[in-house]
Amino acid sequence: MSHHEVIILGAGPAGLGVAASLEGWHPYDNHGKNLITMDTKSLLGSGIRPIVHFRDLHHPEDNTLYGSNRFNFRKNNRVDWIILSDDAAGGLWNNVPSNQLTLGPANWMELSHYPMKQFNYDNHTNINLREIINKNNLLSYYKKFSKKLNLDHHIYNEHKIISIEKKQNSNFIICSKYKDIKKEYSCKYLVFALGPKSIKRKLGVPGENFDYINNSYTKPEDFEGKNITIVGGGRSSDWAAQELFDKGKNITYIMRQKEENHSRLIQESQFLDYYKRWHEIISNKKKNMTLLYESKVIRFSKNNQITYENNLKQQTIKSDHVIIEIGGLPNYDLLKNINLEFHEKYDNYRFQLLQMKVHQHSFESINVSNLYAGGYLAQGTGLSVIGFHAGSFLISGDIIKKIYANN
Ligand SMILES: Cc1cc2nc3c(=O)[nH]c(=O)nc-3n(C[C@H](O)[C@H](O)[C@H](O)COP(=O)(O)OP(=O)(O)OC[C@H]3O[C@@H](n4cnc5c(N)ncnc54)[C@H](O)[C@@H]3O)c2cc1C
Repeated sequence: MSHHEVIILGAGPAGLGVAASLEGWHPYDNHGKNLITMDTKSLLGSGIRPIVHFRDLHHPEDNTLYGSNRFNFRKNNRVDWIILSDDAAGGLWNNVPSNQLTLGPANWMELSHYPMKQFNYDNHTNINLREIINKNNLLSYYKKFSKKLNLDHHIYNEHKIISIEKKQNSNFIICSKYKDIKKEYSCKYLVFALGPKSIKRKLGVPGENFDYINNSYTKPEDFEGKNITIVGGGRSSDWAAQELFDKGKNITYIMRQKEENHSRLIQESQFLDYYKRWHEIISNKKKNMTLLYESKVIRFSKNNQITYENNLKQQTIKSDHVIIEIGGLPNYDLLKNINLEFHEKYDNYRFQLLQMKVHQHSFESINVSNLYAGGYLAQGTGLSVIGFHAGSFLISGDIIKKIYANN
């Protein structure tokens, strides 16, 4: 078993931010003060939320032209850390549809240690920081981030985490599967940053494993044939339904939600081109887009048959493919042997998950010492990467302060 001081689970934007500070890239203010070791507990005591403090330093004003920030980074000694993750740097962005665009501007996806402006300069690219950014550019940025800051040697990808335990001696033991080989790691500090969708939701109906059924969508070319059934109702299924429709497919879109909820999402998202397109599609009432609200799949059968219920009536249709995009959940099962408390965080579209209850000055679990929650998984975090990235300084700062105190 190999031991490391810190193990970060997940190579998404949340894990990468923590890793960069642990690698030694610390934020300094304009007076040359290292902010990583600042007393965030006192800050909280004086009525300032530490995550908001760091977020304001990174983005002093919303929509700043170049994601300018009020701190700069200098290299310090590294802490012994690794990341274990199934994907490479960039997390879930490795698996979103090929043409996926973000919901917010590029500089909202930035991790402060390596400004996107600098990325543009290094790569001779011209990404508009105030416009939404596509998957390819965003992934290139996260990959370059990990290379430029020397993180990539310490990111072990293709590792599927299968269990986590906390031992009497206070170390965490993590088991992963790497190409069917079981690996074991131990660490003193554990950062749980496996993202908001580490387990795919299942419909839980008979026949969900037929091979005409797909649990993700990448690009239209993957789907031959004319008739496609989409099951979902959120932004990911909207993306798939619209892109396939525009490629001339006949779409049957089965949604549990009410029509008014879908209409509201479309209305409130008119700043995005694909939702402008949705508005057109709905207004034109095209016959090859069948929208079934307040409907549910009853079963899938052989010969590509889908039985669903709509208006209390059951119908059976045939489709060449079914795409199920009903989101996911954080995989807290991995922590089931550790007694943790969670906070229910639900809003209309974005936050629909349980978050770990954490101390607000450090994002360390209130129940288990040396366990930290990254990204959306921490109670009190902010929305989007711009909102949660600041939490990475609370986590890395707390770990670094503890390590300094023990030496
Ligand atoms: C389609 C889509 C569009 C989005 N658009 C935006 C947007 O415009 N702006 C925005 O700010 N956010 C957006 N988000 C939110 C998104 O969650 C964040 O952008 C960000 O990727 C979350 O970062 P993270 O590091 O917390 O998690 P992730 O990016 O999910 O990274 C966690 C990593 O851990 C891996 N992992 C999970 N379980 C295991 C396991 N058992 N073993 C090993 N590895 C595991 C995951 O596969 C993943 O690679 C979007 C999400 C989706 C799905």
